[in-house]
Amino acid sequence: MKVTQKFETGKTRFAFELLPPLKGDNIDTIFDTIERLAPYHPSYINVTYHREEVKLIERPDGLLERRVVRKRPGTVGIAAAITARYGIDVVPHLICGGFSKYDIEDALIDLSFLGVDNILALRGDNLRGERTFRAAEGGHLHAEDLVRQIIRMNRGEYLDSELEHSAPTNFCVGVAGYPEKHAEAPNLATDIAHLKAKIDAGAEYVVTQMFFDNSKYFAYVEACRAAGIGVPIVAGLKPFTTKSQLSLLPQTFGIELPDELVRAVEGCRDNAAVREVGIEWAVAQGRELMAAGAPALHFYTMGKADNVERIARALF
Ligand code: FAD
Repeated sequence: MKVTQKFETGKTRFAFELLPPLKGDNIDTIFDTIERLAPYHPSYINVTYHREEVKLIERPDGLLERRVVRKRPGTVGIAAAITARYGIDVVPHLICGGFSKYDIEDALIDLSFLGVDNILALRGDNLRGERTFRAAEGGHLHAEDLVRQIIRMNRGEYLDSELEHSAPTNFCVGVAGYPEKHAEAPNLATDIAHLKAKIDAGAEYVVTQMFFDNSKYFAYVEACRAAGIGVPIVAGLKPFTTKSQLSLLPQTFGIELPDELVRAVEGCRDNAAVREVGIEWAVAQGRELMAAGAPALHFYTMGKADNVERIARALF
């Protein structure tokens, strides 16, 4: 079922995001997380996609060998396994980084054959160590171009124009939005104009970057509406878990933390106490967002379910 159909009821939905396990780990951690959160009726589950990394490996002759590795493969397989085992709708992420249009087309064909109806279309981050994002050879530079490719396949237009009677796919496409602007965007208005281009290309809803101050989300929704973006905007929430996140989260995601949260975290004796603050904060955020009619709360679990379980118990 398409995610946007779930929003039509007007009830705030519970959704969460899972990371594929590190290469070499098994899928049980994914199943454990789902089993802990299943009693709160997740409406759908997102599965992230991870681009390749370049590692320098020392060879026996002392020279360094450049090796391309993917640390967290398995997105498509996990999406299929969740659907088969739990019957819960999945939203696999697809990224431009590291993929040619042909790689993307093949992944879309796999997902379509598996009966997956939803995709979150993203650009992905820069290759580690590179300052700017570079498209793969024959790949896309912006998420907007990926959205266009998916929508073209929904019309039965594949990359090989000589194919005849190609089967149209039927994907509902979501995209990312940034209430505090994307780190590379010169300002919020420009970033929202780029978001509008993704919607005009055919994306049907937005999932936001994490935010800890609901007023940022409300102002963003208003600014998007004023810019002519009418689609549902899902609120992305991440429960705070460690003191180090006080500097890590603003640095990594270009977000600001409210003074009250910073003071509460700074006053904690250890990370167990920080987790309690994080749970309380996310529950309060969730209550206000639900009262304001947010279409869904999308939790960034980062592979840990215990805090999200307590938040979901309080909210859903
Ligand atoms: P874009 O929409 O392409 O935007 C990137 C930047 O380019 C922005 O600054 C934008 O303003 C600008 N821009 C956009 N279009 C144009 C244009 N036409 N001309 C000029 N500038 C333009 N990353 C992963 O690798 N895997 C994941 O699974 C993943 N999941 C995510 C889930 C969510 C909900 C979010 C919010 C982020 C996720 N990310 C993931 C991170 C994401 O890939 C990065 O934030 C990335 O840097 C930007 O992706 P985007 O899709 O927003 O890119």
